[in-house]
Amino acid sequence: MQGFPIFLSLQDRPVLVVGGGEAAARKIGLLLAAGARINLIADTVIGEIAQLIADARIAWTGRGFDDDDLAGMVLAVVASDDEALQARVSHAARQRGLPVNVVDRPALSSFIMPAIVDRSPVTIAISTGGAAPALARRLRAEIERAMPSAIGRLARFAEIFRGQVGRTIERPRDRRRFWDRVFAGRVGELALAGDEIAARRELIRLLDTTRNEPASMGMVHLVGAGPGDPDLLTMKAYRLLQSADVIVHDRLVSPEILAMARRDAERVCVGKRRGEPGLSQEEINARLVALARDGNSVVRLKGGDPLVFGRGGEEIEALVRAGVPVEVVPGITAALGCAASTAVPLTHRDHAQSCVFATGQLRDGTVALDWRMLARPRQTVVIYMGAGTLPIIAARLMEHGLPATTPVALIENGTTSRERRVVATLATIERQAMEARLHGPTLCMIGEVIGLALARDPEVHEAETAGLGH
Ligand code: SAH
Repeated sequence: MQGFPIFLSLQDRPVLVVGGGEAAARKIGLLLAAGARINLIADTVIGEIAQLIADARIAWTGRGFDDDDLAGMVLAVVASDDEALQARVSHAARQRGLPVNVVDRPALSSFIMPAIVDRSPVTIAISTGGAAPALARRLRAEIERAMPSAIGRLARFAEIFRGQVGRTIERPRDRRRFWDRVFAGRVGELALAGDEIAARRELIRLLDTTRNEPASMGMVHLVGAGPGDPDLLTMKAYRLLQSADVIVHDRLVSPEILAMARRDAERVCVGKRRGEPGLSQEEINARLVALARDGNSVVRLKGGDPLVFGRGGEEIEALVRAGVPVEVVPGITAALGCAASTAVPLTHRDHAQSCVFATGQLRDGTVALDWRMLARPRQTVVIYMGAGTLPIIAARLMEHGLPATTPVALIENGTTSRERRVVATLATIERQAMEARLHGPTLCMIGEVIGLALARDPEVHEAETAGLGH
C-alpha cells in the first residue's frame, strides 16, 4: 500500500489553504463539505472564492505566507503555482509534523487527496498512489454510475438501528448475516426507495424472527479457485468468497485470490509448509465438519478444480457422512488454464483425438501409471504433480513407443504473472527442466499439439530451438 487510507474528521477544525485560484477553489469546496474551518492565505482570489469570503464561510488573510500561519492548524493545503512558496509551506508544515498536501506535487506532500465518491455518510476514496490520477477519476466515474445515489439514505437508516441490533444479536457473525439480509432484501429496497416507515416495520419483524431462530447448521462449499489468475474465478466462487465466514485453503491458492475474500473472514491454511507436514486429510475433514456444525458458512478453497487431483471426493464423503450439507463449485483446472495461457489445443482434429490427465506422484516408491495407454499416438497427455518424477515419466513413455522427439512443455505457475515455460522433447526435457530450476506448481504437457503451438508462438519458439532437435 502506497498510502494508508484514513477518514479524517474535520468538523469545525482549522485548515490552512494557500492560494486563491481555481485549484484552491476546488479544494476549499471539498474541505467545506467536510465541515472544516478554512483560513485562506492568498494575495488575490478568484470570484468564486471572493463570494465565500463575502459570505463569511472562510477567513481570508490577504498577504504572503508566514510560518506562524500554521499554528493550531490540523492540515495544510497548498494550491498555488509559486514553486518557492510551495516548498516553503511544505517544509514548514513538515517541521511541525503537520500533514501537508501540495496540489500535483507528490514529492512535497505528506498526504494526497483521493478521488472521492460522496454519498454521505457513505464515502469512497480512490487512490492510485499518484501513479495515474486519470485512472482514479475513471474508477470514480464507474463507481458513481454503479452506486445508487440513495445509498447514503440507506446507511443513515441502518445507523438508527445499529445499537438495538447490537444488543439483540450477540454473535458478530449472526449480526453480519442479519445486516446482509437487511441490505440485500426488502428492508434495503424500501429504505432506498425512501419509504422509511415500511422499512422500519420490516426491519423490526426481521429482527424478531432472527432472535427466535434456533442455531442453524452451517454448510461447506467446495470451491475451485482456478489455476492462479484471479480473473479466472467463477462468479459463484467470487460471491462465496465475499460471503464466507471461514475460508479453509490449500497452499496452492494464490495470495491474489485470497485477497478477494471478505476482509474479516477467518482464514485457515491447511496446506503443507516447507518443513512442516500440514494437516492430515482426516484432520482437514474433521475441521470442516466442526466448522459447519458451529453454524459457519465454510468455503473450502482448492487450487484449480476441487475434484481434479484435489482429494475433494474424500472431503465430500466425510461431510455427507457427518450430515453436513455440501455444494461443489467447479474451477478451471490447471490443464485448461495452462493450455489457454500457452494457446496449446489439448485436442486437435489431426494431432490429438484424446487427452488424458494423469498424476505423476509416486505411490509405493514408483509412478504406477498405465504406460501403454499413455504412450498411444495422437493423444495429449497432461501430468499433474509430475515435476519430481519427470525423468521416470519420459523414460517410460519412450520405452512404450512414444518417439524421443515428442514435444513436451512444462508450465510453472501457469496463468499468473510468474508463469514460466520450458519446452523440449521427451529426450531433452530432463536436462532442460533441471537448468530451469522450477519451484512453483508445474504442469507437464506432452504431445504433438505442443509442437503446433510452438510453430505459432515466437516466444515459445526460442525455447524450442534450445530444447528440440537435440
Ligand atoms: N486441483 C488442482 C490440481 C491439484 S494437484 C487442479 O485442478 O488444477 C497440484 C498440481 O496441479 C501441481 O503439482 C501442478 O502440477 C498442477 N498445478 C496447479 N496449479 C498450477 C499452475 N498454476 N500452473 C501449473 N501447474 C499447476
